Amino acid sequence: MALALGKAVFIDKDGTLIRDVPYNVDPRWLRLTPGAGVAVRRLKNAGYKLIVISNQPGVARKLFKESDLLAINGEIQTLLAPYGVKMDAFYYCPHGPGDGCECRKPLPGLILRAAEDHAIDLRNSWMIGDILHDVEAGNRAGCRSIHFDNGNETQWVMGECRQPEYTVKGLIEAANLIFPAASGSVNSSGGDRTDAGAYKEAGLATTK
Ligand SMILES: [Mg+2]
Ligand SMILES: [Zn+2]
Repeated sequence: MALALGKAVFIDKDGTLIRDVPYNVDPRWLRLTPGAGVAVRRLKNAGYKLIVISNQPGVARKLFKESDLLAINGEIQTLLAPYGVKMDAFYYCPHGPGDGCECRKPLPGLILRAAEDHAIDLRNSWMIGDILHDVEAGNRAGCRSIHFDNGNETQWVMGECRQPEYTVKGLIEAANLIFPAASGSVNSSGGDRTDAGAYKEAGLATTK
C-alpha cells in the first residue's frame, strides 16, 4: 500500500512568521507577526505540517553561524507555546546570492527537500511569504502560494512564477483562505472560535 502523503504550509520566517529584524539572531528581539499564533494553530488543526523556509545569507556573510539559528527556532516555539502549537520543522538556506546554490529562494530547493523529508504532497500544500521570492519558490515547487503584502516587497519584479494565488494582509487571512472550514464563521457547537474571537485572542482589532 502506498504511503499517504501529508500536506504542509511552508512559511517564510522574517517578516512573515516573525517581525523582520534584519540579520537578527538574538531571541530577545523576536516577535510574532499579528495573528501568527492563532493562524498557525488553525492550520495545524486542519492537518497541515508547519515548516519554516528561510533564506539566511547572514551565515554566508559570517554575520552569525548556522548554529545560532537554533536559538531562534527555540524562541519561535516558545512564542507559539501559549497558542498550543509548534512548528514542525525549520529549513534554512545558509548561502549568499552569488553562491549558486539550489536552496536559496526564489529557487524551490528548500521546499523540495522539506517535502521529501516529510512526505508532503506539494499540490495540496502552500507557501506563504512577504516577498515575491517566496511566492516564486512556492510556485516553482508546485505549491499554491500566498503573498503576505506587509510592505516588505519593494521591487515588484514580476515574471514567470511570481504571481501569487492570493494576496493577504495577515496570517489569519491566509489561514482562512487555506482552510475556510477552520475560520469558524459557521457557529457550530464544538466548532472553532469565531473570527472575532480569534482576532481578540491575537490582540488585533476586529474593526478596520
Ligand atoms: Mg521575509
Ligand atoms: Zn542555499
